[in-house]
Amino acid sequence: MSQSDVKTITVVGSGLIGRSWAMVFVSGGYAVKIYDNQPGQAAKAVAEIRKQLNELEEAHMIRGELTSTQQLALLSSYDDLEQALEGAFFVQECVFEQLDVKQGVFQDVERLVGDDVILSSSTSYLMPSSVFSKVHNKSRCLISHPVNPPYYVKLVELVPHPETAAGVMSTTHAVMTKVGQAPVCLKKEIDGFALNRVQAAIIAESWRLVQDGVVSVKDIDLVMSEGLGMRYAFIGPMETMHLNAPEGLEDYMKRYSGGLSRVLTSFGPVPDFCGEGAKKICNEMSELIPSDQKHLTARKERRDQLLMGLSKLKKDHEDAS
Ligand code: NAD
Repeated sequence: MSQSDVKTITVVGSGLIGRSWAMVFVSGGYAVKIYDNQPGQAAKAVAEIRKQLNELEEAHMIRGELTSTQQLALLSSYDDLEQALEGAFFVQECVFEQLDVKQGVFQDVERLVGDDVILSSSTSYLMPSSVFSKVHNKSRCLISHPVNPPYYVKLVELVPHPETAAGVMSTTHAVMTKVGQAPVCLKKEIDGFALNRVQAAIIAESWRLVQDGVVSVKDIDLVMSEGLGMRYAFIGPMETMHLNAPEGLEDYMKRYSGGLSRVLTSFGPVPDFCGEGAKKICNEMSELIPSDQKHLTARKERRDQLLMGLSKLKKDHEDAS
């Protein structure tokens, strides 16, 4: 590929998610210009990415067709937003999860780029209609919500603003697919998007079961890690039901919808996650994994190692099929 064929993406904000996006985009052959408003921060991010890419290459876990040296050559850091945006066709914002900060960033970016540049936000919980309320041309705006760490967990939720053009959704879908992520398109905005809504439902019922003395913290986590999670890494709840009755989903509903509805109507109210009950649950968790940095860091490293292994297993399955 010649230098002029390489398209440029600007990543705004070089924290945890900005660095991850930069690694994902260069793995797919895009030039990535990374900017942070803290002077020197973007350069530090590039140094950190260099270290990580070299380690990933040694572990044979680097993504994409390019070597770490080729991927690093695609990456550059900026303390100046205008320079960082020059030549970009796509901007991925990854700044603090604060509405006013994000709105300010998109106002600045819109002043500096052409009308056809796609403006994408990494926000976890803010609605597109709020994040982009101060942008004039909202048709080129969307949220591309990643899952941490995006290098191993490939899902990205594409959430449109009510005015987002269909072409912007499909171009972003193509970009995400090209870099090896797994994009899903929401048809309209909703608080929490899809992933965090499903996660909230799981957290709420897990919390209630522990709070009501039905099960321990340790055992509810085992319900996921040794039970539901085993299949959910490969097939979702819809396919699970489809496969769990001899004649598929309709048959499953004939057999089990009564029980399902009865259980659903027995769910308690939304927990408030505070007070004595919450303290007891937090203490129970801390007895299993102490809340100091040493223990938490060790468990995070273990989680990332396990996710790396799982993502390799999923890739081997895809390659074989
Ligand atoms: P972070 O605190 O690690 O990084 C934020 C970075 O943005 C910092 O380097 C900061 O200097 C920079 N920044 C702040 N204001 C800026 C500005 N005006 N211009 C340029 N840079 C600016 O945060 P993070 O965890 O990387 O999260 C970034 C976004 O990604 C948030 O919206 C968050 O909700 C979303 N997200 C986070 C996760 C996660 O698990 N951490 C997962 C999915 C989505």
